[in-house]
Amino acid sequence: MVGLMQPRPLTIAHIVERAERLYAHKRVVTAGAERLTYAEVTDHIRRLATVLDSLDVPASARVATFASNSRRHLELYFAVPATKRVLHSINIRLSSEHLEYIVNHAEDDVIFVDRGLLPRIWPGVDRLPRVRYWVMLPDGTDTAIPPDPRILDYDELMAGAEPFVGSFEDTFTLAEENLASGLCYTSGTTGPPKGVLYSHRSTILHCLGTLAAGFIGLSESDVVMPIVPMFHANAWGLPYGAMMAGASLVLPGASADPAHLLRLMQDERVTVAGAVPTVWTSLVPELGAYDLSATRFLLGGGSAIAPALSETYRAALGVPITHSWGMTEISPVGTIGGIRTQHGDATAAQQVAVRAAQGQPLPLVNVRIVDVETGRQLPHDGDAVGELQVAGPWVAGGYFRVDAGESFTDDGWLRTGDLATIDADGYLRLVDRMKDLIKSGGEWISSVELETAIVSHPDVVEVAVIARPDPRWMERPVAYVVLRDGSAATAEELLRHITPMVAKWWLPDEFVFMSTLPKTGTGKLSKSALRDLMRIA
Ligand code: ADP
Repeated sequence: MVGLMQPRPLTIAHIVERAERLYAHKRVVTAGAERLTYAEVTDHIRRLATVLDSLDVPASARVATFASNSRRHLELYFAVPATKRVLHSINIRLSSEHLEYIVNHAEDDVIFVDRGLLPRIWPGVDRLPRVRYWVMLPDGTDTAIPPDPRILDYDELMAGAEPFVGSFEDTFTLAEENLASGLCYTSGTTGPPKGVLYSHRSTILHCLGTLAAGFIGLSESDVVMPIVPMFHANAWGLPYGAMMAGASLVLPGASADPAHLLRLMQDERVTVAGAVPTVWTSLVPELGAYDLSATRFLLGGGSAIAPALSETYRAALGVPITHSWGMTEISPVGTIGGIRTQHGDATAAQQVAVRAAQGQPLPLVNVRIVDVETGRQLPHDGDAVGELQVAGPWVAGGYFRVDAGESFTDDGWLRTGDLATIDADGYLRLVDRMKDLIKSGGEWISSVELETAIVSHPDVVEVAVIARPDPRWMERPVAYVVLRDGSAATAEELLRHITPMVAKWWLPDEFVFMSTLPKTGTGKLSKSALRDLMRIA
């Protein structure tokens, strides 16, 4: 027997109209310089809808963004899917080869580009023949714009546009909740980038999952600052989540300068912020100079948060960095860490260890670990290490226009490529990425555990451990280390520091001191770039 409830579709359009009705007074601040209300932003979304019509952008066409976190980008986040087009947010730090590959693969119809970023993408214009219009997003720069009829100006288009009248939500049928709403490409560390095609339904369910109390749990009283770029896996769902919850949004714009970010957090009384660990690390030296007393929740993800980093924040602000584990393929949030009631009696050291775990799956997400060789499921006992697999309504079931069958199991679960343990409380702990594990003498060494040990030395700012080919052991670990300015710590001292923490045969063969470490397009430490450096050296 089928239930008798109303067959209403789940759509991003609902978030726009909810914000319009309930949260018109809430604010959206860009880079501290521009302050709008949700009333203004939703009015712009309505105008942008008719702009897209006037440009003859068909339904389901891909509308790309090449932009930093700003209110215009936010308007695109909503107007594009609310009018049944697909928002393709492009990583602005891609190589020109990857950039051209994904724009052509996605068949982007129109690209909205921060004016200051035009020089990064325009030189390849002749290799992007399908893009009909290039719409400049004013960003305070006066970057020269080539005279070309395909180049338009966002604010001019908007000034001449009438707002769409009526309900976006009412234009959707039940079946259309499964329409594609967004497209993000994975970074392509192995092979060409692959597109993950989100739907309205998956986006709304992900939004509700992250909004659940005890997870990210945004509420109307929050002021949310996604430092994580809006092109990095939907900024972890924070823009959709904030607007659904009615929280104010603070968007940092193009600058990732620590003083700029900290000043925004202070001046806007930000309560919740999310960033990758390299960004959290970059803020540490200036943390004490700002009043961050409004902060209640800091989210970190994309790579492991070293306990030492999280504890630094806990000591300075009383707020640790809470782990979020996820992937572009998971919309992206899969788990959220932190202390729960069962840890009430845990010692301080045990609580630090719990906070270092990636945490429990969001409601509706299922996780399991399997033996890499046999595919057999492994127990959730906190010891068994296996490949992590995920299933859920906001987990990819395939990739856009490529057959990537090997990424999925026969029963439809996503193979994450991560190695993890799961304990009896359902806490996930990532051991390493399969491709980053170091195979030494037939045994595995976790690069993540070694990095955690090394970065716990007070003079170490950043570290990445990678494998070096070794004739006897097959591979041996080498640590690339950035020290605090003025530190004279030596390899011997670092070895002494980590010796009590790891097995003797795990100790790195070499410490290489660097002034900085290479980062990926999403700001994570790039082990593949380091491997290239090592090959050249
Ligand atoms: P990429 O890193 O390839 O650009 P994603 O941003 O989708 O693509 O990254 C997903 C991967 O990042 C995960 O498979 C995992 O290895 C790593 N990751 C994400 N969050 C965490 C976390 N909280 N702790 C450790 N690793 C993480």
